[in-house]
Amino acid sequence: MKLFLLASLAFLASSSPIPSGGPQSLYSCTVKTQEQADALLHFDVFNHRFGPNAVVDVRTRSATEAAKLKSLLSCTLKNADIYKVPEDLGDANAIQRAAAVDPFFSDYQRYSTIISKLVSWNATYSNVLTYVPSIAVSHQGRNVPAIIITDKSVPSSAKKTIWWNGMMHAREWISPATVMWIANNLLTGSSSDATIASWLKQFQFVITPMNNPDGYEYTFTTDRMWRKNLRDNGDGTLGVDLNRNWDDGHWGQYGTTTTTSDETYCGPSPFSEPETIGTANFISTFPNLYSGIDFHSYSELVLRSWGWTNNDSPNEAILKQLGDGIVSAIYGVHQEQYTSEKAAALYLASGVSDDWMSTKLGMAGFTIELRDTGNYGFQLPNSFIAPVGEEIWGGIKFYIDFLVKNPNIPPQYPTTKKTTTTTVKAATSTTAAVKTTTVATTCAHSKCVSGVALRSSCDACVGKIIAQDSYCGSTSWDSVCVGEVKSICGITC
Ligand SMILES: [Zn+2]
Repeated sequence: MKLFLLASLAFLASSSPIPSGGPQSLYSCTVKTQEQADALLHFDVFNHRFGPNAVVDVRTRSATEAAKLKSLLSCTLKNADIYKVPEDLGDANAIQRAAAVDPFFSDYQRYSTIISKLVSWNATYSNVLTYVPSIAVSHQGRNVPAIIITDKSVPSSAKKTIWWNGMMHAREWISPATVMWIANNLLTGSSSDATIASWLKQFQFVITPMNNPDGYEYTFTTDRMWRKNLRDNGDGTLGVDLNRNWDDGHWGQYGTTTTTSDETYCGPSPFSEPETIGTANFISTFPNLYSGIDFHSYSELVLRSWGWTNNDSPNEAILKQLGDGIVSAIYGVHQEQYTSEKAAALYLASGVSDDWMSTKLGMAGFTIELRDTGNYGFQLPNSFIAPVGEEIWGGIKFYIDFLVKNPNIPPQYPTTKKTTTTTVKAATSTTAAVKTTTVATTCAHSKCVSGVALRSSCDACVGKIIAQDSYCGSTSWDSVCVGEVKSICGITC
């Protein structure tokens, strides 16, 4: 007993890999105004939850940063040392349950162990699995792998493609563990479960469980709370937020910054990162792209695109039905209550993977934020791998069955712009979400030439035009927008 107690105390006192500079804290802050939401863009917000009186978890790296945060918002200290490993109060039997599925799932695994598992699966399930060792090479030279699970007797052209992605954010360890869990269920069921065998004839499941291998390894060796990839920004800072780097048509506009040290730094250009462009090029090669899910943590949310605008996507009704059903199915497993929302109901963000797959590929795009809601946060103990895997598998079964029963969800491209702007009204918020955007001081290009969408704050005339023609601020600044410089502002270009 004494030995056990000593071991327990040692465990409680242990710390995850921590960068130099000493303990860092987490504050619980209430966001009441647009200005406060904008100010948070330069902090590391663990659980983005914007809306009236939204309570968010915000990290501070120093006493100075904590004082700055508390001068901006009403905050209370939630955790004085975010690197301290929390005591595991989860289901004591869950680790054994995970190990019974496969010892691989008894703990969070390193990059090389996950690669070994993919190689092992390739040998065991070669009838239904194709292993692609490298769809991209990271900044530090690691391969980004993919697997395709499908019935190889049915030609690709006769099947729809579903894409599941994991580990885009390094510290979200439950993401790759869960993606591997549901892949394992497809594989083990491929020969024993008639429903799964039927799915494999109708779909090819393209699975990329490790989108950010450099950042992930960094969380084991150097900094447990690392989020971005490991691009050397050339100014003493590291990393791009991969989930702000996708070329979704709105890159750099919302919920992101151009400050290299920020956690939501969008990178120097759309698809500047090998991990995002390599994955995008790979996914784009598949026929009949139908739907995708990008797995993150934490917040327990099932989010349907779009995230770059509060406007409904053309598929809002059916995607809400699907998202709500996933939440109910998840709840049915362990009675864990996730929430189904439009991605933009959480906070506006652009350059995000689910918007890329919907706006560029026409797919029904989702992001699922896994457990928990902030008790353990990113340091979710390994005893949660099985419960999360089990409940998400419940949601996935509903999701696939829904796609089987609804084979004609229209492509989710943005609506085509009308040729006249006289009937286009200003975009209005349909939710309680607070728009978050960086404050632009100059326009990305002259309002007298066509180009990327402009921010309304960059110029008074641009603001007037976007108020009447939201397309110019959300999609692109085309020749109609240029013409409105004269018709709306009375300015001759
Ligand atoms: Zn994430």
